[in-house]
This record gives sequence, C-alpha cells and structure tokens, in this order.
Amino acid sequence: MTLVGPGTWEAALASAATAATAARLALAGRPAYALSRPPGHHATRDGFGGSCYLNNAGVAATAMREAGLERVAIIDIDAHHGNGTQAIFYDRADVFYGSVHVDPGRGWFPHFMGFADEVGSGAGEGWNRNLPLPPGSGDDAFLAGVAELCAQASALGVQALVVSLGVDAAELDPESPLRVSRGGFSAAGRLLAEMGLPTALVQEGGYHLEILGLLVADVLGGFG
Ligand SMILES: [Zn+2]
Repeated sequence: MTLVGPGTWEAALASAATAATAARLALAGRPAYALSRPPGHHATRDGFGGSCYLNNAGVAATAMREAGLERVAIIDIDAHHGNGTQAIFYDRADVFYGSVHVDPGRGWFPHFMGFADEVGSGAGEGWNRNLPLPPGSGDDAFLAGVAELCAQASALGVQALVVSLGVDAAELDPESPLRVSRGGFSAAGRLLAEMGLPTALVQEGGYHLEILGLLVADVLGGFG
C-alpha cells in the first residue's frame, strides 16, 4: 500500500517542509494551509504506512514548540485515526493529540489503535483523546466530536493549533466510512477557527478528486 521508489524521499521531505513552513506562517500571524502530499498522520518516528512516510503534523507541532510555545494541540479530523501522531506524542504533556474518526474496531484502518481508552501515558495522561464513531456517522456526531476536542485542547491551555485536515469523512468520498456533508466541513472549520489560536492546517487524506479542493476550501472558509 505504501510504496517506495524513485522520488519518494524527495516528495516526503518536501511535504514535511511544507508543514513546517505553515507552522512558521501561523505563528507569524495568519492561518496557513499546507498542501502536504504525501500525507503524514500514520507515520511514527521509526515506521511508515497508510500512504504516509513522515509525520507532517508532528513536524508542524514540533516547529511550534521549537519556536518557543509551551503547549500545542493537534486536532485530527481525517476519517481515520492518526496512529503515528498519537504514538509520537503519547507520553508527552506539551502536545495534545485529539482525533475524531471511524471506529477502528469495526474493521477500519489503522485497526489496532485509535480506541477511546487510549488517553496518553505517564506525564502525557490526559493529553490524548480518541473519539471513535460508528461507520455511517454524519454531521451531528462528527461535529460533536470536533467540538469536544476543541474544548479539551482549550482546557489544557494550548497556545497554537495544528489541524490534521483529512476530508475523507465526506459522504461523497468513494472510500469514506463516514457521511459528513460539505456544510459539516464548513461548520468544523468554524469550530476550529473559534479557538482563536495561531493555526496550521496540514493536508491528510481525501480521495474524491473532483470535490477534494472544494471540501478543503469549505474547512478553510471557517478561518475567513
Ligand atoms: Zn484517512
């Protein structure tokens, strides 16, 4: 599924660099979108998979930490759980990872991670939140999940936000396990923007090529 060939490293490195640049632009005062391909949220520190090679959202959050911020949130609205991002920050109390996604226990990738009882370990306990949804869930459940993640991140006092912006939860997506409408993505964008934080949005999944750009623009529209 996740092939390696000529150009793979150059593409993965450029994708990660795009995310780091978006993080710097966000801290400079305006929301920034990174069109990162290949995506990243399934990549761990030492492993790749699920079409991901380097964890772009993790790179963005790290760039924000290295710029001097003490606490950063990554909120992942891709239809699938970002097992790589969770693994990277699982024992840390400086980067919150929250994800709303299809229930991995119902046969969906990444299968072995993304369950509700994974809340972080050690110092990181309370800094990881998973909200798995039954397959077929629509706007109401999805947006309730996004709102819950925003509330938890705010309660932790995060100073900046990275959004793992997958749009494969769309009802029109041919591979989607969820049924989120275009209006649902717009509303998700508004919820994320209302946090009022410096924000970098990093592209993750999305497979309906004809409307992919529209779905991304729906989310970005929330940021004005
Ligand atoms: Zn996905």
